Amino acid sequence: MKILVINCGSSSLKYQLLDMDTQTPIAKGLVERIGLPGAVLTHRPADGEKEIITAEIPNHTVAIQLVLDALVNPEYGVVKSLEEIGSVGHRVVHGGEKFASSVLITDEVMQAIEECIELAPLHNPPNIAGIEACQKLMPGVPQVAVFDTAFHQTMPPHAYLYGLPYEFYEKYKIRKYGFHGTSHKYVSQRAAKMLNRPAEGLKLISCHLGNGSSITAIKDGKSIETSMGFTPLEGLMMGTRSGDLDPAIVSFIQQKENLSSDEVNDFLNKKCGVLGLSGVSSDFRDIEQARDQGNYRAALALDVFSHDVKKYIGSYAAVLNGADAIIFTAGLGENSAEMREAVVDGLQYLGAKLDLEKNKVRGKEADISAPEATCRVLVIPTNEELMIALDTLDIIQKG
Ligand code: AMP
Repeated sequence: MKILVINCGSSSLKYQLLDMDTQTPIAKGLVERIGLPGAVLTHRPADGEKEIITAEIPNHTVAIQLVLDALVNPEYGVVKSLEEIGSVGHRVVHGGEKFASSVLITDEVMQAIEECIELAPLHNPPNIAGIEACQKLMPGVPQVAVFDTAFHQTMPPHAYLYGLPYEFYEKYKIRKYGFHGTSHKYVSQRAAKMLNRPAEGLKLISCHLGNGSSITAIKDGKSIETSMGFTPLEGLMMGTRSGDLDPAIVSFIQQKENLSSDEVNDFLNKKCGVLGLSGVSSDFRDIEQARDQGNYRAALALDVFSHDVKKYIGSYAAVLNGADAIIFTAGLGENSAEMREAVVDGLQYLGAKLDLEKNKVRGKEADISAPEATCRVLVIPTNEELMIALDTLDIIQKG
């Protein structure tokens, strides 16, 4: 079966068409600037040249129509007819407490996703637009929703509740939800395979370190604690997000800088993190380069980041009562040997030790631990699209 995976942002749309017999993409692509001047579709067949298509793309329906046209195009398409596509898997950011796993999309599911809009006002509306567009353009093709929050629904109340009046949880649904769930689930499943152990009995600390970063404690294949919270702003300092702060700092900044609540929220999401600290960039490659050229604040930002990751690993080792493996994934985790080294240095108490030669690996699955390490350190490239497609296939096959 072929499965189309769709990930809609407010003005962008990423897609992959996967052949589930081989579990590999046949084509992938990106639509950018939806609803803006200069919209463009970049389509990449797995065994062909990339094709750039410019067009007026006023909304997600037009964007998906263009994607479907590209997939069947006689010149650069990859299927003869859309009938070859058995199902569509949609990334949906927030499923609230309603969804602990992926689901076949029905009218009730759509209503529940809409009810989660207040929890993810920037993310769920474009996800909904993508689903509606596919329903319109591919009638009869089953659509599946895969939620970023679902994997973390196994967290116990003592992990997901904040120190706020319990009524705020009841009235406003304020609790920790966690994000990047599809990535943490995928790498934890791969880790079990690499370690040749069943998920049952395994204690994993999964570090998704990219532009957005989060860490998850996984026991018996289930998330029991994660660093992102009510929103993806909590936890580690990130590319542009502040991560954890003393909550009193928020109103203090608001007063000092004369900002509205929306403005301070925007500031904490877009102007902070390693960008704010370094003053150089939100991109770790730029920051590493600036540090190498002697930039003090760039060096500081990298030190604060690795210290942050180390602290979370320590607290999750406490929650798990030890760890069998630490996983590094996403752009920085998969590629930066020096960040992995900085993080793992000092984790001897956990039994973690790197083989510095093996740690040179980039973007490939590898066990980079020293032979004597009792807590393994793994590099596992994340593959959220494959995880979405596998969940979608599972649901379709269960009927
Ligand atoms: P992601 O959000 O997963 O795409 O990750 C993006 C982040 O990974 C950016 O900050 C990149 O600078 C970082 N990254 C990618 N490759 C490298 C690399 N070779 N060294 C350091 N950082 C990298």
